[in-house]
Amino acid sequence: MERTYIMVKPDGVERGLVGEILKRFEAKGYQLTALELMHPTKEHLEEHYCDLKEKKFFPGLIQYMLSGPVVGMVWTGKEAVKTGRKLLGETNPLASLPGSIRGDFAIDVGRNICHGSDTPENAEKEIALWFPRGVKTLKREKGIDALIYE
Ligand code: UDP
Ligand code: MG
Repeated sequence: MERTYIMVKPDGVERGLVGEILKRFEAKGYQLTALELMHPTKEHLEEHYCDLKEKKFFPGLIQYMLSGPVVGMVWTGKEAVKTGRKLLGETNPLASLPGSIRGDFAIDVGRNICHGSDTPENAEKEIALWFPRGVKTLKREKGIDALIYE
């Protein structure tokens, strides 16, 4: 089963949207595998966004990400990375369809309230960076997987 790293950014936390974002991944059928409120350092965020370090918006992005705590989570399930990105919407919230998280709750690209891994390889890298002690996927009880997967 695939895993993805989803993070509520400081604006999403401050605006009280953690529950809303959790709710959508839960309702879709993905399994919550890890969840933590964190206060990352500048160095940690620079590592997370290392592919973007040459971009003009990079310093502003790091400053934004340092403006408050974030909520990191790991979700597990079939095509969790690709579908996670669909649940979030486009990077630019104004280009995101209503019904997606960014489409419903955000306007500016630099205040787009959430992060989602873009490939399964990057997801595994991000999970290792944010949950260095590892995460364990326990088998879900009550036969719920049989109600979600055929
Ligand atoms: N970002 C920005 N300005 C831009 C492009 C991106 O501030 O022109 C920020 C935005 O918060 C985005 C993050 O940088 O979510 C990472 O960019 P990426 O292209 O990886 O978008 P994502 O994967 O988050 O959709
Ligand atoms: Mg990205």
